[in-house]
Amino acid sequence: MFDNLSEKLDKALHVLKGHGQITEINVAETLKEVRRALLDADVNFKIAKEFTNTVKEKALGQDVLTTLQPGQLMVKLVKDELTQLMGGDVEGINLSGTPSVVLMSGLQGSGKTTFSGKLANYLKTKKTKKPLLVACDVYRPAAVDQLHVVGEQIGVEVFSDRGNTDPVAISKAGIAYAKANGHNVVIIDTAGRLAVDEEMMNEIANIHKAIQPQETLFVVDAMTGQDAVNTAKAFNDILNFDGVILTKLDGDTRGGAAISIKSVVNKPIKFIGTGEKMDAIDVFYPSRMAERILGMGDVVSLVERAQEQFDEEESRKIQKKIAKNQFGFDDFLSQIQQIKKMGSIKDLMGMIPGAGKALKGLDIDDDAFKHVEAIIHSMTPLERSTPAKLDASRKKRIAKGSGRTIQEVNQLLKQFDQMSKMMKMMQGGGGKKMMQMMGA
Ligand code: GDP
Repeated sequence: MFDNLSEKLDKALHVLKGHGQITEINVAETLKEVRRALLDADVNFKIAKEFTNTVKEKALGQDVLTTLQPGQLMVKLVKDELTQLMGGDVEGINLSGTPSVVLMSGLQGSGKTTFSGKLANYLKTKKTKKPLLVACDVYRPAAVDQLHVVGEQIGVEVFSDRGNTDPVAISKAGIAYAKANGHNVVIIDTAGRLAVDEEMMNEIANIHKAIQPQETLFVVDAMTGQDAVNTAKAFNDILNFDGVILTKLDGDTRGGAAISIKSVVNKPIKFIGTGEKMDAIDVFYPSRMAERILGMGDVVSLVERAQEQFDEEESRKIQKKIAKNQFGFDDFLSQIQQIKKMGSIKDLMGMIPGAGKALKGLDIDDDAFKHVEAIIHSMTPLERSTPAKLDASRKKRIAKGSGRTIQEVNQLLKQFDQMSKMMKMMQGGGGKKMMQMMGA
């Protein structure tokens, strides 16, 4: 996420690190680079200019000349300003009605249908709501099918009326259906066009007027940069929507949309989409996003994700096994599964402070575990539970079965052995021993 921007900002801010104090000259130099980085990330020119002007004023103001190093001070100022620009506080969605109606708007391909499913899944699992999805795209039968597939996947009911060509009538019928069947949230997925056109705008405006949703969300593809901001403006003029959903932030986005959109339409980004799967949804936290952009990581989100996926019973079982020296490859596999559930490896790496930079250029993809898994899957149950049994001929067979080399099998065994030893040490009150081992 935003690799390019992060790198450029880091470089810009680095200039100040060697200086003992902030002067008008070194601030100007640094901010010129910051502005260039923002423009390269497709941030609107006016916003980038205002941004650097504000930071400059603050940097040169008497009140901030604290004991911090200039480099650190500048990073802090830029971080605060980025946070402010992206919205400051977190804003949730309004679920006050009975049922509460959420209307989705946006261009075709922006990720409306996918996000409708993600939101339904999120509300169902996190907020114990009973959502209903309503398919209002009367032009593309495939879009209705897609919503049904999504609904099936997440176990949420989908309302559609294929013969009907009036989206206002369908949305009204959907809400009535929800009322009659105990659904307390209705998510209405609408038709989009490839570009803003009058007919589409009229249609969504009519639906909006007729159903008066508690929450109108505008979904936009973050990859489209400045276009995303312009489209947002066009939709906001008509709908006066409540919040923005920024999708495809897992891709190679430059970051401009995330940074500019709030200040152009004065509406908060509420959620982000970070993948095609139904759980690839995150609440948008401006300050955490600013930290990520500045390569400071996002430890809070990382810990939250770990907690969400943390299976207490599984963890107790593993601890017992370690204590009894019974930790085997099956347990190792289950640990890998838990890590994978937390998200894509690249995404997780971006949340670790400094990791993005340190690992730059390394090709970390989600297949990173695939070879390890293939090797373990080629082992017999006995070999998995008792790795000591792995002699040369067994290793050869496993290498062949998994399509990996003997060296790779050996390497995995070595890593596994080291890991087991380390875990044993940590278990046996060996925190001290561990520190000794690490040379502390
Ligand atoms: P709609 O036309 O607005 O309903 O858009 P869709 O929901 O059909 O999404 C268009 C495409 O974008 C599909 O291939 C989705 O799988 C993909 N997509 C949606 N959201 C995300 C996201 O957050 N990340 C990625 N990588 N792809 C997404």
